Amino acid sequence: MDFNDTSEEAAYRKEVRAWLKANAPRTKGARDGGLEDPVSMDDSRAWQRKKAEAGYACITWPKAWGGGGGAAWQSVIFGQEEAAFQTPANPFAIGLGMCVPTVMTVGNEADKQRFVRPAVLGEEIWCQLFSEPSGGSDAAAARTRAVKDGDDWVINGQKVWTSGAHFSDFGLLLARTDPDVPKHKGLTMFWIDMKASGVEVRPIHQMSGASNFNEVYFTDLRVKDSQRVGAVGEGWRVALVTLMNERLSVGGGGGGSNYRRLLALAGDIQTLTGLGVKDAALREKIAEWYVQAEGLKYTTFRTMTALSRGQTPGPESSIGKVVSATLMQDMANTALELEDQFGIISDPANAPLAGGFQTALMNAPGLRIAGGTDEILRNIIAERVLGLPQDVRLDKDVAFKDIPTGR
Ligand SMILES: Cc1cc2nc3c(=O)[nH]c(=O)nc-3n(C[C@H](O)[C@H](O)[C@H](O)COP(=O)(O)OP(=O)(O)OC[C@H]3O[C@@H](n4cnc5c(N)ncnc54)[C@H](O)[C@@H]3O)c2cc1C
Repeated sequence: MDFNDTSEEAAYRKEVRAWLKANAPRTKGARDGGLEDPVSMDDSRAWQRKKAEAGYACITWPKAWGGGGGAAWQSVIFGQEEAAFQTPANPFAIGLGMCVPTVMTVGNEADKQRFVRPAVLGEEIWCQLFSEPSGGSDAAAARTRAVKDGDDWVINGQKVWTSGAHFSDFGLLLARTDPDVPKHKGLTMFWIDMKASGVEVRPIHQMSGASNFNEVYFTDLRVKDSQRVGAVGEGWRVALVTLMNERLSVGGGGGGSNYRRLLALAGDIQTLTGLGVKDAALREKIAEWYVQAEGLKYTTFRTMTALSRGQTPGPESSIGKVVSATLMQDMANTALELEDQFGIISDPANAPLAGGFQTALMNAPGLRIAGGTDEILRNIIAERVLGLPQDVRLDKDVAFKDIPTGR
């Protein structure tokens, strides 16, 4: 593992830092939401375009499609440096991190020409329509039906937890096209127009007060066969392309950075027994989190090293999310206890440290579920990193229509 930047990496980091200093907008705490507000959305689009024009959006994608034509390690460095700035919220993450890469890998030429560049420029936003009430961790259990009708497909069903569906232009939809074969074999992927008639988006209200995700209902939605992404019955293979990209894009160890903020808070706040940091039990917890945060940092170094050497990071990238989401939740819990009665204030204008730990506490449970729950990621680590026996999969060879359900 390389602990330090190579001279090439150090030079790139310097260049990026200077560019960010000169160009990053100063926004007030918009990173985690507020996208219902059109001003925030305008800020986000403007920032995305600016990055794209400078070659810093989709750094690894070909220049011909609006990308930066660079290497994966450059993309990691840019992400690390950008995280130090309070840039606008990022409504493009799902499209650019998962949906559009899937279209680029599996889609037809016309779709690539049509969709990639506008997405990079922040002109069009995508959402991922996989999870359903009966299929979240088990996304292959999707029941949304697509039935062929002449040149079209007619889609009926429901998706849930669809992040950003309310402001998305397009969605990548996993649908069941053949219930007579085992569940992984009867699926097909489509792209859909989120504004088409037959698509109804209903926001889900979260405890934070925001509505970042939605239920999405399809009633006789007609899509053209040309909107198919990949072959009929190959939907699961296509979904794996999306999910692999998802693991990479949410796998980072971002939560570790809060450790320093917590230490600063403990060094500053008076509790009933004196200065927070003097409490031996709290010091012990902070020491434990320091170790975890350092572990995450070195796991990121390992990923960086693999990328620098032209390798693709493997399933071990799941470790980052398992550790960082729990770390974020545990540290936020302790921070709010330290803040005492002020811990219940979430309004950034009045809460201590602009409500950063309050936001973290409310986002952490979602982070532990989205992109693979803690248990699913542990299964992946167990099976694919440690080589332990596979999870039991009783329905693997049963026709989907014969899998028992509640009703
Ligand atoms: C913030 C957020 C954003 C999201 N955005 C999107 C999105 O944009 N698009 C989208 O399609 N989905 C999205 N999701 C949905 C997400 O992918 C699912 O919630 C997740 O995959 C879990 O599925 P589930 O909620 O149906 O839980 P279930 O799969 O029903 O799991 C329930 C519990 O059982 C456990 N469990 C399930 N299977 C196993 C197993 N084999 N072994 C051990 N334990 C198991 C799980 O860990 C969990 O604790 C989002 C979720 C969140 C929280």
